[in-house]
Amino acid sequence: MKIIENAENLSESRGGALVPTMGALHEGHGTLIRAAAASGRPVLVSIFVNPTQFGPNEDFARYPRTLDADLKIAEAAGASAVFIPTVESIYPGGLANAATLAAQFSLPAIATAPLLEDAIRPTHFGGVCLVVSRLFDLCEPSLAFFGEKDFQQLRVITQIVSENLSRWNSLQIIPCATIREADGLAMSSRNRYLDPAQRTSALGISRALQSVANCSSVAAGEKLMRDTLDQHGLETQYAVIRSEKTLCAVESGAKSARALIAAKLGEIRLIDNASVGITTMNG
Ligand code: AMP
Repeated sequence: MKIIENAENLSESRGGALVPTMGALHEGHGTLIRAAAASGRPVLVSIFVNPTQFGPNEDFARYPRTLDADLKIAEAAGASAVFIPTVESIYPGGLANAATLAAQFSLPAIATAPLLEDAIRPTHFGGVCLVVSRLFDLCEPSLAFFGEKDFQQLRVITQIVSENLSRWNSLQIIPCATIREADGLAMSSRNRYLDPAQRTSALGISRALQSVANCSSVAAGEKLMRDTLDQHGLETQYAVIRSEKTLCAVESGAKSARALIAAKLGEIRLIDNASVGITTMNG
């Protein structure tokens, strides 16, 4: 497996399958890499803790950095190369120039209208769009793999790619299902911050989602999720059932939707989501 630090050495990876990550790899990332390898294309895993997608009071400085372990996971899962870009190669002219680069995108409605991650992390999707667009420009993949774990992010990226198909040469975004621990907790690089009591409380999130796998109405499902989160001592930021398509209000008569949760345990913030079947649509 090659380790590429200089973007000029990416030529062999062009046209391949890209798996963008921020490192601190776990089995969720491993599954993305294996899915990418199954495409038969060379797999390029990028590892870059992107400063512009963290807000000023978020955990950029303490985000876990575990490069040696990451390289082993990436190689075992079938990566052909790992790209570890410098800040300068992602943000030519430095971070001070990032705002100018960001101006090239007007964020799609899915990044601003749902009032989910976009409301709680107002600068987040601007930073995400910036880094993935630079990675797509530099790596020129034909496929890029993203997890449903970050559902709004997946939808934002799918949208910006569909709006820029000629720029990215018909790049296809491939979604991958959320990988969970045996007890249901969605795998996340941030799970390692949880102490044993918080690890138990965190189960409230997947339980809340399971409790609404089928529900009679949006309002009843949202209340059930909030109650479950409360019972587990989680601080709910949002626990909502939304349209799969827009992530805004569920369309009248819809039979399925998406439940999305963000909740905190102390300073640790966790997100998760799952699909919901709705038996009666009465809001
Ligand atoms: P991150 O390193 O957290 O930015 O994640 C990199 C990619 O891995 C993103 O596309 C995430 O959605 C995906 N990912 C993270 N956790 C999981 C998981 N538990 N299951 C599936 N994909 C995941």
